[in-house]
Amino acid sequence: MVLTRRHFLGLSASGGLLPYTATALTNRKHSSSVIATQRAPSITRHAKPDLPTIMLDPGHGGKDPGAIGVSGTYEKHIAEAAATELAFLLRKSGRYSVVLSRDEDKFIPLEGRVELAHRHKAQLFISMHADALQQPDVRGASVYTLSGSASDHQTALLAQKENSADRFAGPAFHGFSPDVQEILGSLVHEETRHGSAYMASSVVHSFQDKIRLLRHPSRHAAFVVLKSADIPSVLVEMGFMSNHLDELALRQAQHRQHVALAMQQAIDRYFSSRFGGERLAGGRLL
Ligand SMILES: [Zn+2]
Repeated sequence: MVLTRRHFLGLSASGGLLPYTATALTNRKHSSSVIATQRAPSITRHAKPDLPTIMLDPGHGGKDPGAIGVSGTYEKHIAEAAATELAFLLRKSGRYSVVLSRDEDKFIPLEGRVELAHRHKAQLFISMHADALQQPDVRGASVYTLSGSASDHQTALLAQKENSADRFAGPAFHGFSPDVQEILGSLVHEETRHGSAYMASSVVHSFQDKIRLLRHPSRHAAFVVLKSADIPSVLVEMGFMSNHLDELALRQAQHRQHVALAMQQAIDRYFSSRFGGERLAGGRLL
């Protein structure tokens, strides 16, 4: 598959939980604009492959706090901090264009997140979360792909809760019937399904031995935010706010960095496998 021209979206530095990352991102933006002004048109147009665009989607935001941890941590803040860290690592690698669905604490409806990914012609969509389960003793990371039917009861409830985030958007966005959920699952193209499944297993592979995983960590259900027909999409639960050990870990910048590093490795493996290493600037993989 030939990569097409991608837009690079400059990132405005946000405050939030990781001020040092915001500074680094600002520097990165400056260095990108320096590179852009040095471009020699007729040579570099063919010499340099366009970078694949990844959309990182920190869950919730604004009036939707997401899950609230046992110690009062808001999922929306954890999601934004982790996505910001991952965006920094990916940009630093020089191999990707990275777009964040939000880099500030604001509400975006689920459909709006999918639309954003299409507008930016993203080739991979990663939604980042740390939701709550009804079982406070369950902990560990897990990865979700779209399917008309849920892999298990726990995941069905999780998708139901995630999809209800749009109740914050007003009456037009209220819930989805099982029929609609079934349709959401069937809309996705086969190739997109394969890409999503590969990315999910790549994340699980990278997390093994580094980040504690849920039992049977690769799961599926009718998550609205994953419904892109042509963009491979996964939702990563980095842990659960309902478990105090997961919450404690995700509050630590160092732990979020470990998660981001493992995610970066999973993304490298994904693009290396799907598009061939020679198409990635920088060359070194894994
Ligand atoms: Zn969530």
